[in-house]
Amino acid sequence: MSTLLFRNGRVIDPSQNLDRIADLWVKDGKVLGLGPRSDSATDILDCTGMIVSPGLIDMHVHFREPGREEDETILTGSRAAINGGVTTVACMPNTEPAIDTRDAAEFVILQAKRANQCHVLPIGAVTKGRAQKELAEIGKLVDGGAVAFTDDGAPVQSAEIMRRALEYTKMFKRKTKFARPVTAYEDRFGKAVLVHAEIMELTEGGVMNEGEVSVRLGVRGMPGVAEDIMIYRDIVLAELTNGKVHILHVSTAGGVDLIRQGHKRAMELHEAGKPTFWISGEACPHHFNLTDEALATYDTNFKMAPPLRTQRDVDAIIEGLKDGTLSVLATDHAPHSAEKKSREFDAAPNGILGLETFLPMCITHLIEPGHLTWIQMLEKMTINPARVLGIDRGSLVEGAIADVTVIDPDLEWAIDVNAFHSKSRNSPYHGWKVKGKAVAVAVGGGLKKNELQ
Ligand SMILES: [Zn+2]
Ligand SMILES: [Zn+2]
Repeated sequence: MSTLLFRNGRVIDPSQNLDRIADLWVKDGKVLGLGPRSDSATDILDCTGMIVSPGLIDMHVHFREPGREEDETILTGSRAAINGGVTTVACMPNTEPAIDTRDAAEFVILQAKRANQCHVLPIGAVTKGRAQKELAEIGKLVDGGAVAFTDDGAPVQSAEIMRRALEYTKMFKRKTKFARPVTAYEDRFGKAVLVHAEIMELTEGGVMNEGEVSVRLGVRGMPGVAEDIMIYRDIVLAELTNGKVHILHVSTAGGVDLIRQGHKRAMELHEAGKPTFWISGEACPHHFNLTDEALATYDTNFKMAPPLRTQRDVDAIIEGLKDGTLSVLATDHAPHSAEKKSREFDAAPNGILGLETFLPMCITHLIEPGHLTWIQMLEKMTINPARVLGIDRGSLVEGAIADVTVIDPDLEWAIDVNAFHSKSRNSPYHGWKVKGKAVAVAVGGGLKKNELQ
């Protein structure tokens, strides 16, 4: 096939605790190792001054296909991923129809192959049709390629269904040998259930965070405890079942604290050699760089679920990212056509785009202010989401699939939604000045983007 040389970059691979200037060699779709070597390269990328990272993983995207192709397709979403430096995405199953059968999961994989951009992994629904009545065919979904389970877009409202989902999904353990390092702790678990935490009785009719700002604006709010209660429920259900739970888009200070305590308890059990459970948490950029004050404009690009919260919550999320409680960064990329987002505020759908602003927002708001180091940030975008999903990605060890993201850490630019590859434009970040950009991307050793000279 080909031999690719990423020359003289700062190679940062958190899976190996590696951060040094080196050549990275890729051959026939796999990582060969760090140079110098005697091989001759078919392609040489001069990465001087650049960061060379394992391909970024975004484990939380909504690609809308099948059913809402006017908002996004697997092709346009994958192009947006590559443009943002993301080489693997996991797709939420709240499509129409939902991804709740083996055929549906295989359809996502087939469309991703046709698109031929990034890796697209299907996530299966927890309940049939996401109707909250009976469990979906979990085993068949796993056979079809589903890497995790969720009813995201909505919570699993029944604690009984959640309990059974955790009991069932934990049985599907890793069957293949991985190239990347695997920890003894992660190897104890099967598939994860991904939690959209929201007690619906408490958020009914709400359009933003409940607090000072919602009172001032005179609109109905959604209290933070609606999220905290379900995070607590699912942590204790994980402990009861020895299951694997990952909390999506954590937005509250209370939620961060519950996950911190839960994780501590899980690690104590693990270290004592006792039956244990998995609990991890994820943060999205909008929950650490925006607050509910933004809603004063009634711009629907600030409307999402969970909603933008207060500065106190933002500070807690940054603290959770710093101390490792929130081990994953993801986007919740949620495209909506202009027609839908331009409806009046109450009627507009929740969610914003994320893929093409993900990396610069994290660099600008986590690295630049000194909250995280590069290796800490990239860990949350590579090996950590790979561990939640149980996939052989997120590492540049020898023999790993050669997914590589090259980042210019110093490039200063402004977000322009009109330059997005996504089919939609619903981003609140148009015009924001940012630092850092993905300038080259390889997927399975094939170059998909190259803005290096
Ligand atoms: Zn959600
Ligand atoms: Zn989502």
